[in-house]
Amino acid sequence: MSEKYFQLSKNFAMRGWRDLEYNLQHQPSGRVFYLPKSAADAVFLSFNGIPVNSPAMLPLHRQVLTALVENGLGVFSAEFSAPEEFQRYRKAECNCTQSIHWSITGRCNLRCRHCYLDAPDAFYGEMSLEQCITIMDQMVEANICCVSITGGEPLVRPDWTQFITALKERHLHIEAIYTNGLAVTEKWIGQFQALYPEKMLFSLSFDGIGCHDWLRGRVGMEARTIEAIKLLTAHGYPIEIETPIFKDNLDKLPATCELLADLGIRNWKLSPMIESKAWEKYSAEHTASTDEMIRAAVVLLEKFEELNKPFNLQIAHYYIYEKNSNKAYAPAFSGENSEKALKSPLCSCMRQHPYLLPDGTLMPCMPLANCGLDNQMPNLLKTPLVEVLRPGSALYALSDMRLGDFLENHAQECNQCEHKYICKGGCRACARQCGDLYGPDTQMCRYFKAGDYRFFEKFSQRR
Ligand code: SF4
Ligand code: SF4
Ligand code: SF4
Repeated sequence: MSEKYFQLSKNFAMRGWRDLEYNLQHQPSGRVFYLPKSAADAVFLSFNGIPVNSPAMLPLHRQVLTALVENGLGVFSAEFSAPEEFQRYRKAECNCTQSIHWSITGRCNLRCRHCYLDAPDAFYGEMSLEQCITIMDQMVEANICCVSITGGEPLVRPDWTQFITALKERHLHIEAIYTNGLAVTEKWIGQFQALYPEKMLFSLSFDGIGCHDWLRGRVGMEARTIEAIKLLTAHGYPIEIETPIFKDNLDKLPATCELLADLGIRNWKLSPMIESKAWEKYSAEHTASTDEMIRAAVVLLEKFEELNKPFNLQIAHYYIYEKNSNKAYAPAFSGENSEKALKSPLCSCMRQHPYLLPDGTLMPCMPLANCGLDNQMPNLLKTPLVEVLRPGSALYALSDMRLGDFLENHAQECNQCEHKYICKGGCRACARQCGDLYGPDTQMCRYFKAGDYRFFEKFSQRR
């Protein structure tokens, strides 16, 4: 009988952490697929060149490898080929974290009225390339294989080519680049593609037709951003657009929806304006009330349906509508509505995707930056990532907080609430904006208790 070997797909590597012993990690995205010990053993045997039909493989091992092949995680072949070095098992001395959202500079070429990083004045500065490389090495040690890059404006780093090269050399994948688009030109794309041919998501801010220039503080930015979207799309990059909702763009959302559909974007994420220090002087006149936002969102959803759902649409934490499909769901309702939820993290996003400030401070998430909390969080130039990503660190105390702990020790009002298992107290950044980082998120109180969800329910019933 001829030999048959299992080969793990080049997109996957065997990884372990303190809290998850054996896993397959999808390298481009950092997603982790847990493996029981027997399944891990089957992969280890195949790494050592043991054929699938060898007596050394148990029937259970063969079943596991067949399942991996059926799910596109590997192939069977007649020849043994050793795994790449990066695919071999590595265990990190910290808990599992999927990716890091990294502000690689605090500088920016714009002066937006709402910037919550005070980027135009580079409040958080910029680490040297050597310091960035030290942190990349820490990510490798922590088995983190994926970053999304943001700023300030990430493309203003003069050493960006060396930065990207250093990521590539370490098998650190770029999941997304967040840019204001000003530096995106045909020439820049050509240079970038030569260094990094893989296609990742580009996320650009667009504040609505007729509103972009005012918020961005520069005439001509709206046209420039649209041009950048067209250029990136022409080169095959998927595009995500982020839009803060404020008074001025409420009635522009349907027309903006039409424009974004024409531009062929993949995702549109709308969120309420964050009350940053920079926005304070505009807030009274320009911040939209929750009532105004909901009314605008309903009109927008009508337009979105009329256009046959041309992209994925997310409205705040309330509602996600999938492109060209009948799937629509409210993230706030997607959790386990039972006591089982007590063991889950308050926010799986801040647990799995922490945010790295330009000065090396690791935060639970970007909207919690520049609010005083950063002074309490660890800096990776002083404390290595593997020490930060485990119980005992200030970051972990918040990002890994379980719902049960939160209800029992922090938020009495939430503990009394009938929606506590699915709402989980809402978003910590919104709660902080309401005045108490560990208190209820009043927007979610409105959503659940005051019944705002009913405005959105009619859209998910059109399945
Ligand atoms: S583009 Fe982003 S980082 Fe730059 S000033 Fe505007 S909000 Fe701040
Ligand atoms: S706390 Fe809020 S803003 Fe931060 S990651 Fe969680 S949902 Fe997002
Ligand atoms: S609805 Fe309000 S009180 Fe109830 S769990 Fe959510 S944030 Fe807490």
